[in-house]
Amino acid sequence: MGVSGCGKTTIGKQLSAVLKIPFFDGDDFHSEANVTKMASGTPLTDEDRLPWLASINTFAKQQASSVIIACSALKKKYRSCLSQDVHSRFIWLDGSFELIHKRMKSRDPHFMPPALLQSQFDTLEISAECVPINIDQSTEKITTEIVKAINKKDIGIIGMGVMGKNLARNMARKGLAVSLYNRRVEGKEENIAADIAQQYPEFESAAAFEDLPAFVESLAIPRKILIMVPAGAAVNQVIDQLKTTCQKGDVIIDGGNSFFRDTETRYTALQKLGIEFVGVGVSGGEAGALDGPAIMPACSEEAYAQVGPILEHIAAKNSLGQICCQHIGTGGSGHFVKMIHNGIEYAEMQIIAETYDILKATGKNNLDIAAVFDSWLAEQGYGSYLLEITTKILRTKDEEGYILDRILDQASNKGTGARTSIEGIQLGIPFNIISSALHARFMSSVKAQRQKVNAQFNTTINKFSIDLHNLKEAYHSARLLNHIQGFEYLKAAARQYKWELDLSTIAQIWTGGCIIRSDMMFEMRELLQQTDNIILDDSITLQLIQTKEQLVQVCTKAIQAELPIPTLTACLNYLHGITQARSSANLIQAQRDFFGAHTYKLTEDPTGPSHHTNWETL
Ligand code: NAP
Repeated sequence: MGVSGCGKTTIGKQLSAVLKIPFFDGDDFHSEANVTKMASGTPLTDEDRLPWLASINTFAKQQASSVIIACSALKKKYRSCLSQDVHSRFIWLDGSFELIHKRMKSRDPHFMPPALLQSQFDTLEISAECVPINIDQSTEKITTEIVKAINKKDIGIIGMGVMGKNLARNMARKGLAVSLYNRRVEGKEENIAADIAQQYPEFESAAAFEDLPAFVESLAIPRKILIMVPAGAAVNQVIDQLKTTCQKGDVIIDGGNSFFRDTETRYTALQKLGIEFVGVGVSGGEAGALDGPAIMPACSEEAYAQVGPILEHIAAKNSLGQICCQHIGTGGSGHFVKMIHNGIEYAEMQIIAETYDILKATGKNNLDIAAVFDSWLAEQGYGSYLLEITTKILRTKDEEGYILDRILDQASNKGTGARTSIEGIQLGIPFNIISSALHARFMSSVKAQRQKVNAQFNTTINKFSIDLHNLKEAYHSARLLNHIQGFEYLKAAARQYKWELDLSTIAQIWTGGCIIRSDMMFEMRELLQQTDNIILDDSITLQLIQTKEQLVQVCTKAIQAELPIPTLTACLNYLHGITQARSSANLIQAQRDFFGAHTYKLTEDPTGPSHHTNWETL
């Protein structure tokens, strides 16, 4: 690319001979009308250029392998058009007006008269994707520099742990040239990236490093670097190292489960250096990373133009073929959305675990329970990744029996549930379903105390019977309430942090590749296109009214049997709370006013003045 007269055709042909890649001249794709217009000395308009660029793009898309195309590609939007769904590198033949003007005057007649050169320079917009090559040197040197630039990798991945390795494999399988990096810790972590590169055939042309500057140097400009290391200090350490080697326009992507406030801080700090920062929520675990995760990126439009195509390329596609990656917003919103995803996930898992416990209390064994869940999964609207994996877990045996039965009943967590709870408190919104699931994990963790108290109280779970249809409906109702509360949470955060979150887009991202993908998420996506107040949608109201009785019955039976079901009851309490126009908080306000003179407002005048009563003297 570059202005007319910069040598695109000459260099393109020379490059073609060196790389053995066919060369095409973009000028050959001009319509006759365009050629006539230029020959008459009239500059082309965007209306003239865009169909021409689209025809070059169509041609490029039809090619089975790489091609070299010479095209002025002067504006950013022209380059976007040229690279639409095509993996492209823009090599900018960079020279001064004087040099090019001199060369143009001395060359054969051409349809672009030198007089139009100034208009080309005026139009030229250089952005991060243009790799500059100085043309004030021999054509051999120019070609050598281009070859070096072309051999640079599309993206670098830092951290060859579970996620980093699999995301890198995913990228390599999709045809991206990758550089791999893992730190070297003498005697402990040595040659990790090189060993991984050796292990997988898709890394045949990958470059592996444990020297960070060399890794950065291996990347095409603007550099795109994905960090996949544990959230917190490790991310800061890596960014600090990158700051000294990266340059303006480069893009650093943090794909770990970073805290969204840290992401905001890093975003601002890197912006000052002209380095773009993308905070990306990634969900799907190891398998998702390899085959297509759900991806929630937040960044500037400019950064998304750089990394969006790569992220969308490796993301999951849902069962309708829609891509589960879209630009979420700015700052920390991508990591925030991922945090809420995990909060919803905590509750989804707990709802299934409590349903499993109820079924166990009715005397069913693992295979019976798996069969019940399978029958639900077979029904329209009940498909769920988490329920599917649960049926597999329930059936998995080794020589000693069912593995599930030997797993210690103490749930761990990596802190995202706690983060979701802390942020919910900060926002001051009801999020009792998510927090109940987190508390269930905390309760599970005090195993020794539970055992002692169990012996003291001599507690046993009383067996009971349950109508399976009612249980299914209660399970469905609880999940619905969990989803409603999750999206309400996102709405409150968007308001508070001034993010323009499109909830329907977020639901779409969560329909494939991620842990909470389910038929219900498709339903959410549809609903959220119509309204952001799901619970008031007639179909949802009807579903909740129709299943309320079953949720009450199931909760009642479990409570009577002394079976703890914190999340099912939290769902029911949320439903009862949100459907009551009046709460008992009038008494809370009176008590606050009694002991602390905190004042209260009157029902008849909710936005009016605050009142105080001298309770003792009245
Ligand atoms: P992991 O398997 O523990 O791998 C962590 C990687 O980070 C390793 O390559 C490690 O290198 C490297 N690392 C650790 N400290 C470092 C430091 N100070 N400087 C440079 N590199 C460092 O972790 P993971 O499961 O891939 O997770 C990575 C991120 O993705 C985390 O934020 C995690 O929460 C998030 N995530 C994980 C999943 C999942 O299912 N696992 C899903 C979504 C998101 P060494 O080998 O040298 O220790």
